[in-house]
Amino acid sequence: ALAERLEDTWKKLRGQGKISQSNIQEALQEVRKALLEADVNFQVVKSFVAEVEKNALGAEVISGVNPQQQFIKIVYDELVKVMGESNAPLAEADKPPRVVLMAGLQGAGKTTATAKLALYLQKQKRSCLMVATDVYRPAAIQQLITLGTQISVPVFELGTGANPVDIARQGLEEAKNKGIDTVIIDTAGRLQIDQEMMAELAQVKDAVNPDEVLLVVDSMTGQEAANVTRSFHEEIGITGAILTKMDGDSRGGAALSIRTISGQPIKFIGVGEKVEALEPFYPDRMASRILNMGDIVTLVEKAQEELDIADVEKMQKKMMEAKFDFNDFLKQMRLLKNMGSFAGVMKLIPGMNKLGAGALEQGEVQLKRTETMINSMTKEERANPQLLAQSPSRRRRVAKGSGHQEKDVSRLVSDFTRMRSMMQQMSMGGGLPGMGGMPG
Ligand code: GDP
Ligand code: MG
Repeated sequence: ALAERLEDTWKKLRGQGKISQSNIQEALQEVRKALLEADVNFQVVKSFVAEVEKNALGAEVISGVNPQQQFIKIVYDELVKVMGESNAPLAEADKPPRVVLMAGLQGAGKTTATAKLALYLQKQKRSCLMVATDVYRPAAIQQLITLGTQISVPVFELGTGANPVDIARQGLEEAKNKGIDTVIIDTAGRLQIDQEMMAELAQVKDAVNPDEVLLVVDSMTGQEAANVTRSFHEEIGITGAILTKMDGDSRGGAALSIRTISGQPIKFIGVGEKVEALEPFYPDRMASRILNMGDIVTLVEKAQEELDIADVEKMQKKMMEAKFDFNDFLKQMRLLKNMGSFAGVMKLIPGMNKLGAGALEQGEVQLKRTETMINSMTKEERANPQLLAQSPSRRRRVAKGSGHQEKDVSRLVSDFTRMRSMMQQMSMGGGLPGMGGMPG
């Protein structure tokens, strides 16, 4: 995956506080190479890398995130953007039947995708009719009939002697008569793009005026996917695509090319030979697949959403000066909470997922208990924990208000005080107390 290839580059970036013109050149070069090797079209790569560079240089530094993580996130965001941001559903017809025309090279997976889509729609209680217009190979019609029987979806066919345009037209007529919701027209393909095939497809299209023209593209064909997309879009005009064979070791490069070249979204992916193996296409998932670094992306996203940079710096300063009080503590806790569950956040951090689930859950329970106690403190008490340390009656009031015992509040106050002095020592000595940190 792209991410693995970037690893070495990241290592060189490590230790650098900030993304800069000079230190990202190598990383950009790596992205370029990786995309080209994933069979993304050359032009697509060029504009992609330029966009990433622009965004990386303009990026604000986020505390708690290192430059390489941030760079990955920028690459990820651009991948998502190029692939269309969100899932594009199948277009609806103004009035039924909705007509979907399948296009693509032979072997791309058109016939399989026709049945997959029919099953997918049938599960949504939409009735379908599949139309077999591939008259060039007798086996092709039989293939669709077999699939139709398997999923209980009717197939319209007129044998191999009929003209594809007539079959399509009559199939549509039949669907109208029977009140069928969606007609999916399977078509013939050649091994290579050729004029005759295009002309015939264009005729079928004119005859049925489809709501969708879906280009079925084999994700394993790599660089060729770009050429196929360009030809079909120029000659026929596609409205979307189905990317097949994503269960193989395809690197997904075709996904980038299709959208960039045609401007049309990928709507589904094929993930196996079985009729059930069709999924809606989600650009964010595909970007994660290409990068293979979903966890870091999630971490950076959450940090970006929730961390106010100035706030974090203020907090650090307070810690150093031992001015950190219960108000700050509460704020930090809320931040953590906003970032998702404590356990959820901890699991994103490399190494932390090795902590048992029990330990993480316990941490979360403890945080919750702490929060209720702080909530029962007055403003004064939060700002000055000493007040509580000195007054049993205050501690009792907080304990009662939060449903705890006085000893719980005592422990919280003493833990907090100890933690604060520890933080102060750490920030002054640059290490844990008792580990040779020099006091200021
Ligand atoms: P067509 O010539 O475009 O109609 O392609 P077919 O639908 O006949 O599919 C060609 C071959 O690809 C068949 O062996 C299918 O089983 C296989 N195939 C289609 N889609 C997928 C997929 O998503 N994953 C895998 N592994 N195989 C697929
Ligand atoms: Mg076929």
